Amino acid sequence: MIISLIGMIYKYYESFGGKMNDSFHNSNRIYFDCNATTPILKDACQAVLCTMEKVYGNPSSTHMAGAEAKMILERARIFASEVIQAKPSEIFFTSGATEAIQISVLSLLQWISAQKKLGTNFENKKILISATEHKAVPNAVEHWCKVLGLDIEIITIPVNEKGHLNLNVIEEHAQETIFLCTMAVNNETGLITNLKNIEKIIRKQAHHIYWLVDSVQALGKIDLKLSELSIDYATFSGHKIHAPKGIGFLYLRENAPQCPLIVGGGQEQGVRSGTENLPGIAAIGVVLEKLNQRKKGIESSQLRSEKELFEFRNILLNALNEAFPSIEFNTDLEESVPTTLNFSIYGLLSKEIMNAFDAAGISISGGSACNSKSIEYSHVLCAMNLPEWKKASGVRLSFSMMTTKNEILNGVQAILAAGKAFRNSCLNLSCSIENNNLDKIPDKSSFHGVIQFQYDYSNTWLLVDSNTKNCIIIDPTIESMDRIASFIQCRNLSVQAVLDTHSHADHESSRKKLLNKLNLIDNSNDILGWPGDENILLFNSNEWEIERLGTPGHTKDSVSYLVYNKTNEEKLEFVFVGDTILTGGLGRTDFGISAVNQFYNTLHLLNKKFDDNVLLCPAHDYNNSFATTWGVEKNTNKLLEKAINPFNVMSLNEFCEEKKLIDSELCSNKVQGKIICGLIQSSVHIEDKSEPTINPEKLNNEDFILIDIRDKTESLLFKDWNIFGIEFEPISIPMIQITNLMIDLLQKKSNFLNKKIVLLCSTGNRSLYIAKSFRRMGFQNVWSINGGVAFSRLRSDEKLNNDF
Ligand code: PLP
Repeated sequence: MIISLIGMIYKYYESFGGKMNDSFHNSNRIYFDCNATTPILKDACQAVLCTMEKVYGNPSSTHMAGAEAKMILERARIFASEVIQAKPSEIFFTSGATEAIQISVLSLLQWISAQKKLGTNFENKKILISATEHKAVPNAVEHWCKVLGLDIEIITIPVNEKGHLNLNVIEEHAQETIFLCTMAVNNETGLITNLKNIEKIIRKQAHHIYWLVDSVQALGKIDLKLSELSIDYATFSGHKIHAPKGIGFLYLRENAPQCPLIVGGGQEQGVRSGTENLPGIAAIGVVLEKLNQRKKGIESSQLRSEKELFEFRNILLNALNEAFPSIEFNTDLEESVPTTLNFSIYGLLSKEIMNAFDAAGISISGGSACNSKSIEYSHVLCAMNLPEWKKASGVRLSFSMMTTKNEILNGVQAILAAGKAFRNSCLNLSCSIENNNLDKIPDKSSFHGVIQFQYDYSNTWLLVDSNTKNCIIIDPTIESMDRIASFIQCRNLSVQAVLDTHSHADHESSRKKLLNKLNLIDNSNDILGWPGDENILLFNSNEWEIERLGTPGHTKDSVSYLVYNKTNEEKLEFVFVGDTILTGGLGRTDFGISAVNQFYNTLHLLNKKFDDNVLLCPAHDYNNSFATTWGVEKNTNKLLEKAINPFNVMSLNEFCEEKKLIDSELCSNKVQGKIICGLIQSSVHIEDKSEPTINPEKLNNEDFILIDIRDKTESLLFKDWNIFGIEFEPISIPMIQITNLMIDLLQKKSNFLNKKIVLLCSTGNRSLYIAKSFRRMGFQNVWSINGGVAFSRLRSDEKLNNDF
């Protein structure tokens, strides 16, 4: 009888007096981000411990301790070769797939380089790389071409909207192609590549096209039979299949060019020197052994069968469709692995979906990377040329071979709760509140005052009076239009005006489109949307009155909207300044429609009208500042400081000259391909250099006000406050309403004025940006909780584990 690898390792372990411990998985989170990494299989974990504690010999040593280690190493190699139907001699252990990719690419490129030296002509030769590869592949090709001084044309193979490779492009270039890089399963969409179809094309050629197939996401999910395919290099990663991070392997076809990336003691047939990572190899070996057994129909209590995985997907699909009726899946489910679901929800940004799921207890991945404001779409969804909204909303839910039915069912509850919370926050556009008998709308009136809708670096502002249910909209952007319309309709607000602060040099205003969307007639008699002839707008509110003030400069027609508070001695509290003043800069004035020489007077006018505590709400925010104040700008914005200096240090001409110079530097500056509307300086001269962060433990000891700045949806979903050891629920002021707190503090209206204010979000990122912004305005009593909810949860998990 053949003894299993884990059995063998246990044997070693127990013979040395070790004991198996059952309770090492302890988490109440539902982890649906398994394409990023997977939880480690229990047996694999034990294999790591056993090999570290007991079988720690060096496989190269010739004594018995070395021989034991070598046996584990070679058995793991056999299991790897069996799973992918290759020869053991074609398997090379590496630190992971990225390294395996480097070895493949370097091997081939070094071979080309050597052939060239021998006189082979590689002119007109091409490298073909699929557009949806993991970044490790194109980056490796580019890097090693550069290092080796190879000037070979690299062609990106496009995909269609379903993610399928354009085979015609492969066919068209095949004759000149020397190296082809494709993947077996896409990590973002789960789409399975039909490798046989590609093979048919490339093997028609008289010459050999070397072929790398990144198979990281295929292992364990589809049956890879490398003996039946003419792939030269295939790459695999341990941490995607329940082994630890830091281990993977490369399949390198016999006779394919090989060149080591790391040279030394000659381990792994000289392809990968360095003492082998035996704990990692033992662990991946254990998983591979189980995969082999599964293939042979032997069930494992730790790994789900393919049938179960499809059943799980159906359960999740039903829940997602029920929670988000407008959901669209970004891959053809028939052609993808069951464990990956990539979807978009109309009206919701991927980070909003991700944050809400996170608050509901599910970890999923946002398809797009973003800092606090800017959005960088997934290159895979971009390559698929999906509509803008799908790219902005795309997320990936991925479970694994280890996911249990219980986790799936808990996931369903969390998904339904997330759908409900989005509806309650008027953000789930797919379902009208009126028809939704599931939900009781919580306090709609909580949206009062200034609301900031952000998209990329643009701001659209809403001024909402929840008492009279009136609002005005300032600087609508096309990207925020749908969510603004939904916000207004869901809350039954009446729109008094849709205003622009200026005509746009580079695009059309979205004012008319928004009016259309809201079925409103344009009641304005100027191009920027101002109703009536007076410069005062009696906004139907007991609180505010709005003045239109011409502020030419950025454009000739630029205006600012000054908001006075009738309940605060008619004080000017905040201003929608458009692109006239930005945080740390002035709006650019080099457009055909700009008026640089009027800008000087505009700044003098503003200086007369504004006191230091007036909050400025700009149309763009490149610095994650949310808003700024006249006082801060006067002190930090160099040109502004000089222009309004009471001792007349700068003349109009000097101002224009300096402004032109600054604008000319801006010309070449773009943020993600879009033009910048004004000078931005991220390093503003603020003396306080300390990070405004505080550790959660401090919350118990000091007097503070805790403010939850996450979206309303997240706050509705997350109730687990006792992780902070606090008894009360924090005050919720979502990030989009944070300017109201700024105004209250600036106007000394806030109850929190002399209190320590601690801001909280899920990971500590968003709250840190806001805390910095408050600090920038001079409020040194504002902090962000270090690591946010995530850190506190970790600590409470840790406590739980220690109690066991
Ligand atoms: N290729 C694909 C398709 C992946 O999903 C990943 C990991 O995200 C990699 C390569 C890199 O793998 P590793 O983390 O083992 O270097």
